[in-house]
This record gives sequence, C-alpha cells and structure tokens, in this order.
Amino acid sequence: MALAYKIGSLLFCPECGTLLSRPKDSADSIICEQCRHEEPASSYDNIVITTRSHPDAFPSALRQKRKTQTKFHDKGDQGTLVSEKCPACGHMEAYSKEMQLRSADEGSTIFYTCASCKHGWRVNN
Ligand SMILES: [Zn+2]
Ligand SMILES: [Zn+2]
Repeated sequence: MALAYKIGSLLFCPECGTLLSRPKDSADSIICEQCRHEEPASSYDNIVITTRSHPDAFPSALRQKRKTQTKFHDKGDQGTLVSEKCPACGHMEAYSKEMQLRSADEGSTIFYTCASCKHGWRVNN
C-alpha cells in the first residue's frame, strides 16, 4: 500500500497527490476528495517525511503531481492574508506566499492556502 506523503505540515494523497484534509478528532481515516483513497488518520502521527534528496520515494506519476503542488510553508509561517477566491470552497480569503522555485529568470510562484478549508494551490507569475 502506498504511503501518504507530507510536505511541511500538509499531508498529500499517495494515489493522486491531492492535499488531504486533516482528520476530525473522532475519525480514524481521511478520504481523498479527488480519488476516494482512504488514508488512515494515523498517517498524521506516523508520517513519511520526504525531501528532494529522496525523489525515488515517489512513483513517477506522483512526482509529476508533486511538481504542481510543491513545497508548502510550515505552520506559523503561512504567509499574507489576501483576497483570493478558493477554488475548492469559494472562500474569499487565502494566505499567499511567493517563492522562487524555478530559475531566477523564470519568475516566481505564488502559493495560496485557503483560510477556510486549507486547500492549497499555486499560481505562476
Ligand atoms: Zn487521491
Ligand atoms: Zn477553501
């Protein structure tokens, strides 16, 4: 069975790379909204922490997905609150953070995290 992977404090679906919601207190599993993959809530406690130095930890398809959902910031450094519509829930506030992920002449990428549902997405400058 594939293991969920974690970037910063976020957990991603091992099947499709979608950001998973945090489990409710009483729930013992998280269902991926995208592919219905069921992830045990214990993954949050016993998480697989991966880094760029271990790219082989991912199947190639997942690595593709991962490129579009790249690094998120850690807790406590969630960026600036801006007026941006969340594509997942329609909430009009999100935290934004700009990161230089690619080479300098290609511009930067802005990461958004919904202030309501914590959905994350990004926009290339
Ligand atoms: Zn999924
Ligand atoms: Zn949202």
